Amino acid sequence: QPLLTLDRVVKHFPAGRGKRVHSVDGVSLEVGKGEVLGLVGESGCGKSTLARTILQAVTADSGHITLDGQQITGLKARDLKALRRTMQFVFQDPYGAFDPKMRLGTSLHAPLRHHGMKDQAERAARIAEMLAKVGLEEDMLERFPRECSGGQLQRLVIARALLLKPKFLICDEPTSALDASIRAQILNLLVALKDQLDLTLVLISHDLRVVRYLCDRVAVMYLGQIVEEAPREELFTNPRHPYTRVLLAASLAEEQHDPAHHTEADLVTRLKGEPPSPIDPPPGCRFHPRCPLAQDLCHTTTPPLAWPGDDHSTTCHFWDR
Ligand code: SF4
Ligand code: MG
Repeated sequence: QPLLTLDRVVKHFPAGRGKRVHSVDGVSLEVGKGEVLGLVGESGCGKSTLARTILQAVTADSGHITLDGQQITGLKARDLKALRRTMQFVFQDPYGAFDPKMRLGTSLHAPLRHHGMKDQAERAARIAEMLAKVGLEEDMLERFPRECSGGQLQRLVIARALLLKPKFLICDEPTSALDASIRAQILNLLVALKDQLDLTLVLISHDLRVVRYLCDRVAVMYLGQIVEEAPREELFTNPRHPYTRVLLAASLAEEQHDPAHHTEADLVTRLKGEPPSPIDPPPGCRFHPRCPLAQDLCHTTTPPLAWPGDDHSTTCHFWDR
């Protein structure tokens, strides 16, 4: 049984003049217990909105999300608080993650207190346990955020996320604000913690190498929709959607040139043009204005879900070309 299930989740935002931003537009996904699902796509494709929708930080317009068999869409405040014990998140920017005026110890005690751990010694023990897991010394707790490096802060963010012993973690670009030299350390830490703590992870990244390193399965998102989903090796060796193929080609090209300099902007220039606006998604296949394989059919008709393999799905009329 999957730990997390998304069933046709939709989240639009008003964009003025009756227009709507189609941030998340009918996403269905399953994440098994102990699995790491990678969610990839260019910035603006709706990855982060999808993460926020799963976390119930924004409310889906329609569709259902279940966690461990329990429907979590439309929960009341009290039940949301309980949900936070199960589901935590790690965002991109560790520098903005803590109150700059507070010592880090205070910031780490707060969530435990909020969740009813009244005993100071018990909280301190839990914090010490989690600091050890992320490889930090306890003297960190006396510091202010400005006295820490980006790598230290991201370890603290991860420690804070683990304090309530969640089953499920959403990491949104957890390494992209960090120096290249620190990234691998943080990724290795996530791998180690996942195994130790039996965590289920959704890892959001625009960097396919990060996803290949960490994930069991990968979903590729384009303009609010999943266009391909497969087990990691299947996706990397047998990609079927033209968008996935372009992403892979771009990633490979960059790897060969300069692995330290991988920016989303580079990647986008390798595709034909900028991504179209999610305010007015193109008709037919949303990728058709940029697709090297587009045919007339693609301009008018939405491609149905196709199954190139048992566990491999894609939405392209010509996936078998
Ligand atoms: Fe390209 Fe057509 Fe496939 Fe869309 S359906 S990805 S436009 S070939
Ligand atoms: Mg984002």
